[in-house]
Amino acid sequence: MTTPSIAIIGAGIGGLTLAAALRRFGIASTIYEQAEKFGPVGAGIQLTANSVKALAGLGLQERLLENGFCPELGLNRQWDTGEITNTLEMGPGLAARYGAPDIALHRSVLHDALAAKLDAGTIRLGKRLKEITQNREGVALTFEDGEAVHADAVVGADGLHSVVRRAALGDDKPLYTGKSAYRAIVPTANIKADMIEERVKWWGPDRHIVSYFINPDKSLVYFIAVVPETISEVESWSQRGDKSAMLAAFDGFHPRILAVLEGAEDVRKWGLFNRHPLERWSVDRITILGDACHPMPPFIAQGAASAIEDAVVLARAISESGGDGDLAAAFHRYEGARRERTARMQITALENKWMKTAVDADWVYGYDAWSTPLPEHA
Ligand SMILES: Cc1cc2nc3c(=O)[nH]c(=O)nc-3n(C[C@H](O)[C@H](O)[C@H](O)COP(=O)(O)OP(=O)(O)OC[C@H]3O[C@@H](n4cnc5c(N)ncnc54)[C@H](O)[C@@H]3O)c2cc1C
Repeated sequence: MTTPSIAIIGAGIGGLTLAAALRRFGIASTIYEQAEKFGPVGAGIQLTANSVKALAGLGLQERLLENGFCPELGLNRQWDTGEITNTLEMGPGLAARYGAPDIALHRSVLHDALAAKLDAGTIRLGKRLKEITQNREGVALTFEDGEAVHADAVVGADGLHSVVRRAALGDDKPLYTGKSAYRAIVPTANIKADMIEERVKWWGPDRHIVSYFINPDKSLVYFIAVVPETISEVESWSQRGDKSAMLAAFDGFHPRILAVLEGAEDVRKWGLFNRHPLERWSVDRITILGDACHPMPPFIAQGAASAIEDAVVLARAISESGGDGDLAAAFHRYEGARRERTARMQITALENKWMKTAVDADWVYGYDAWSTPLPEHA
């Protein structure tokens, strides 16, 4: 059996998790990332039990717990009156039920924890993929800087505007959801202490706000405030947002959550995109995962979680393949295990009703990427 050379495009949460999971199986890979360096990612993230369980299999749970925050309660409130419409019991009860806790943290904590699991030299920065072609022998990659690389197989973990997806599966465009999100990390010192809740979503008629603590000493609270917009095209990451426009958009919301928005020092704004579920994720030696494959708006907190799950299931499928000749079959098994679940997540996220009133959350949080069955070998 030969050792396949696996190229991963993109060092986001999905690409990093895949490289770490492959390493757990003793399989080397190389990640090609367009960014010249990793900067601090100025946002929080909610890692639900299913994603923490997947990360726990990489030995990361303790590190995430030490640097994150586990809420006891997840509240859902009416935007103006504050009436509670649903409460999710979290804390030890949720961890016992689903086999892992729900942890909220700063995104950079997760990036650093994943990167620390990789061997030196795994990530090659400043490598923006330009073209990708495959034949029976393998895949040829060409980068913007002119470097050409050969790999036995390629995984596109290159996000919403995936070059790999376009080359392998066709050129459909991401769809703007008609909504954009302001977000900020706010020092709790800027807010009156009794105004902040551990985890809460405030439901307005056509807009909403989610806020939660992201570190153990509760010195930082993060919010995402979603508004309808009619623009059709927005750059996906990191525009500076206008705080006064944001506050105007949430005029009339309860003072308790407005106090959190008012505490923000640096507000950023994102357009929220999705795509329709794909029938097919892989073509021979090329496959895709995460936002490259099934982007969804962050209304059930499963975008990164599903990328993490994809990565673990894909690493398992590759580890069970008998060498480079079987990678196409491994990709086929991977997508067979993942398509239905991620399509259901995409559809549920778009509805934006999750947790407003009581829901059966077991299908989302109870999933175990390390033990979910893979389809039989064809
Ligand atoms: C406002 C907001 C809030 C969210 N909150 C949550 C949450 O609480 N919980 C959750 O689970 N999810 C959340 N998500 C979703 C989550 O952020 C994404 O689903 C997740 O980051 C996708 O990871 P990824 O690795 O697939 O893609 P990305 O994180 O987009 O990573 C792609 C990587 O590929 C690189 N790349 C792109 N093109 C190329 C190229 N041509 N060559 C080389 N490299 C390239 C990029 O630089 C990047 O590093 C949220 C999203 C938004 C917008």
